[in-house]
Amino acid sequence: MTSHSSAQTNHPILTVDPTPLSVSSEQTLEQVVSAMAAAGKTYGLVYSSHPPALVGVCSYTHVAMAMAQGADFTQATVSCWMTPLADLYPGPEEVSAQLGPVPKQSPQETYQPLVDRGGHWVGLVTPGGIDGHQTQVLVSSEPEEGETLDRCSLDQADQSLVRCQQTSSRLAQQQERLNLALEGAQMGLWDWDLTQNSMMISDQLEYLLGLEPGEFDGNYDTLFTHIYKDDRAGLQQALEQSIRCGQRYQVEFRIQHDHGQTRWLSSRGQVFKQNGSPYRLAGITLDISEQKRAELELKLQTQRERLLVEIGQRIRNVLDLESILQQTVVSVKDFIEADRVIIVQCTSDTSGHVIQEACAPGFSTMMGWEVRDPWSVGDKFLRHYQAGRGLAVENIHTSKLSESQLLFLEYFQIKAQVVVPILQEQALWGLMIAHQCATPRTWKTADVRLLQSLAIQVGIAIQQANMHQQITRANEQLKRIAYLDGLTQVANRRRLEQSLHKEWRRMGRSQSPLSVILADIDFFKGFNDHYGHQAGDDCLRLVARILTRAAQRPGDLVARYGGEEFMILLPGTNVQGAETVAETVRQMLHSRRIPHTASQVDKIVTMSLGVASCIPSSEITPKQLVKQADDALYQAKQQGRNQVRVFPLNTYPEPCHDRPN
Ligand code: GH3
Ligand code: MG
Ligand code: MG
Repeated sequence: MTSHSSAQTNHPILTVDPTPLSVSSEQTLEQVVSAMAAAGKTYGLVYSSHPPALVGVCSYTHVAMAMAQGADFTQATVSCWMTPLADLYPGPEEVSAQLGPVPKQSPQETYQPLVDRGGHWVGLVTPGGIDGHQTQVLVSSEPEEGETLDRCSLDQADQSLVRCQQTSSRLAQQQERLNLALEGAQMGLWDWDLTQNSMMISDQLEYLLGLEPGEFDGNYDTLFTHIYKDDRAGLQQALEQSIRCGQRYQVEFRIQHDHGQTRWLSSRGQVFKQNGSPYRLAGITLDISEQKRAELELKLQTQRERLLVEIGQRIRNVLDLESILQQTVVSVKDFIEADRVIIVQCTSDTSGHVIQEACAPGFSTMMGWEVRDPWSVGDKFLRHYQAGRGLAVENIHTSKLSESQLLFLEYFQIKAQVVVPILQEQALWGLMIAHQCATPRTWKTADVRLLQSLAIQVGIAIQQANMHQQITRANEQLKRIAYLDGLTQVANRRRLEQSLHKEWRRMGRSQSPLSVILADIDFFKGFNDHYGHQAGDDCLRLVARILTRAAQRPGDLVARYGGEEFMILLPGTNVQGAETVAETVRQMLHSRRIPHTASQVDKIVTMSLGVASCIPSSEITPKQLVKQADDALYQAKQQGRNQVRVFPLNTYPEPCHDRPN
């Protein structure tokens, strides 16, 4: 805009648009803008339909305001974005003729439309302009040579110029504020002319795209090449849908800057139509990288918490320490995307062994190795770990390490690592270590914390597993005590009863033979009397060992039946087999030649044995089978001892001492 001097300035002649554009007050801003563009007008007279009357004027000034305030052009009606008739002052006769009757009052801020000779809207005139009072030209076109401002005094024109400059300055300030706001919000603007396929983007958008100012060539295809390949289809689809259906769109995509940086952008916009067909697409693009990063971090945090809960539950449900440690290293490796996760059990204050590992393919296993690197063991870090603190190393090559230490780490391709302690009652039990082998790594604090929390859980698991082991041992001990004979360490009478009934049922089901042997030491009372009770006990222990050695099949059971009497249970063994076992026992004992001067059979310890066998059925009971063996034993005693007798019994006595030993 140029400056106007009061006396010499030529002013534009006011003429009235002979064919003003009429629009309905119910039309949307989008329809009005299309109509203005089609008619080549910069303003339109707004008419209401009920009753049909002029209600105001809408110009591009209103359109600009609507845009700045983010109005929805497809919904907002022009009646909300116009200067109402009450605010318009009757202008020159020609204008008045166009406007028709207007209210008589002349409020402070009323406007009258001005048009140039071409019939185009140039601005608004405020009160009194036409009547020779105060005039304000809000927007003005350049006056042409020789033109005069009809009816406006020069003084009034000068005042108008001052106002005009003030307005211009206000607009510049607003523009600056808008630019600052867009920059602060990291928001870029774009405007795509679909008919020309040319695109205008703001400086801020160029910056967001990683372009130098002015580098963008206005071609949409160029812009497309900066978008991540995976995100292109989504953007394309959103744009096509928007153009096809005339809808707004919003889409998120990633941009790869030339220097490798990735940014997340969110673009939203809408299509503008002319005569029903889309001709323009415009909108904004926001940098949402921070928001995406926060979302990702939140997601990871949720996953971390879930992992902790999962492992915690596993620890509560599984008592097998090895499987807990195995699952922990696998879960940690996958979750923090490490190349290797190991658990080292400290064998001394200065060394430890790898007892569990999860290792990515392509890297050497450390299972069973002694760990010697300075962050895992050694006095220097012992106290650090004992206090429950961990250690993260981003790059082994930038740490002060000895040649040998580096060699060890390099042997296992380790480039970075996190070490966290596993404590047991304030003592260092071991370490959980995550390795990065492919590249050095800046560890996230949250990941290190996760490892620490898991190491605490692992500590609890170890304690729990130890307790479980102790309880299991104690239970086994109790069971042994409950079912073992304290003197001879063979099964006691309780166990014998249970086994007899169990085997009875089992053999009954499979219709297999079940045999029993009852064995009794001959003249044992005399042995005790002669050698003493202690020697008697030793003899009983020895006899029990001999019986156990003789009955070797998995199902066989040797039990102390009472005093110096033993029973052997032989499931799946028939009477001949049982007799052979009994005879083997007798001979084994005989061959030991334990002195027994009080015996009336021999001068060594001997045994008499009774055998009975049956296939369990309803015809016979376990008690009856034992009774048969007892009868056979009785007969062995009767017939001279140191012999085996089998039920059913022989009617002809057969002295045992005639049997070869
Ligand atoms: P027989 O040949 O008829 O079997 O004569 P025996 O002396 O062995 O007969 P009896 O069954 O009357 O005696 C069993 C003896 O075994 C009585 C007891 O002195 C001895 N005895 C029983 N239980 C134990 C034990 O736990 N320790 C010791 N040392 N002796 C026992
Ligand atoms: Mg006896
Ligand atoms: Mg006896």
